[in-house]
Amino acid sequence: MSERLKPMPHKAAGPRPGGGGIAGDALQRLLVEWLRKTHVENCHRFARRLVRQTIHRTCSQRFFRSSLRACHQDRIVWPNDALGCFVLSFDLDWREDNNCLPTLLQLLNTRGLTSSIAAIGRWVEQYPEAYRSAVATAHEVFNHTYSHPDSEELGRPERFNEIGLADRIEEIERGDEALRRVLGIEPKGFRAPHFSALNTTDILPCLVKLGYSYSASTIAFRTPGYGLPHRPVSGLWEFPVSGAPREFFRLLGTYDIRRAPKPLWRDESDFLVEWRALLEAVVEFRAFGSAFLDPMDLFFADGALGVGLLDALEAARDRGLWVTTYGELAEWLNGRYPGAAEPYPVSWRAR
Ligand SMILES: [Zn+2]
Repeated sequence: MSERLKPMPHKAAGPRPGGGGIAGDALQRLLVEWLRKTHVENCHRFARRLVRQTIHRTCSQRFFRSSLRACHQDRIVWPNDALGCFVLSFDLDWREDNNCLPTLLQLLNTRGLTSSIAAIGRWVEQYPEAYRSAVATAHEVFNHTYSHPDSEELGRPERFNEIGLADRIEEIERGDEALRRVLGIEPKGFRAPHFSALNTTDILPCLVKLGYSYSASTIAFRTPGYGLPHRPVSGLWEFPVSGAPREFFRLLGTYDIRRAPKPLWRDESDFLVEWRALLEAVVEFRAFGSAFLDPMDLFFADGALGVGLLDALEAARDRGLWVTTYGELAEWLNGRYPGAAEPYPVSWRAR
């Protein structure tokens, strides 16, 4: 870990409220596991939707907090006694995202914040200086395919999970080659276009073969440990993106402010409230948290959202949250849990 990013020392935390009792936790665990299983198997759709909507309308925040408490708290003792760990990631899918990269780097660098940038090979070829500048200022650039299947701007209309395994592997290998050739780096990880809905586990051996140490392609709710890092296969960590306190089943992404057909968040201010709540919860439960943001969304109107988000993250970092990159985290975890062939134990436990 670089000296700059070492978390601040902290005082011992007091009691951590937010429980529902062991019986309440057990009921929540059963419900969440049933929902996750039926989601993966795509069955009981009507019942699943009914239960999800009920939870969403009545007790999403309670489920969110109890999941972090049961699955994350005290599972990993972070370096330097940090109050949790957070990885901020950006997906630069559109030309507009790439145009925003220099301004984004300036905002990050003035706060001493680092990030992991999911980069598409074809955009890296078109904007080499911006990405080189990211690498030169300690940000991580990782593989997000060569042409992002289903990208309208890059002319590949098919979805990642529909193009066949050979094509998926080609997209990953060409993306890897572009990052090495243009930026002179050794990429450490991969993110599938559009995350877990379109992710496929058949690509994992390809990532291992490329020498990658992680994948960051799923959402907390779809993993057994509600987003805790785990090993889906030997030699590879999965770093899920966090859920949102008010939207337990969804990820906290800026796409859902303005561009989604049915936006989850009323406006930038509403999103900021949720962002701060996520950071508070990660610190409170010494959890792992991660978010992915689209740079263009940070600069609508006057750019206040970008400033607000990064100010909040900087404040959490100064309180003792370890803000790092996926690559650095994977390296630390490999040292902390060397040679573990099995997934890190992630199941719920009563508190
Ligand atoms: Zn993407």
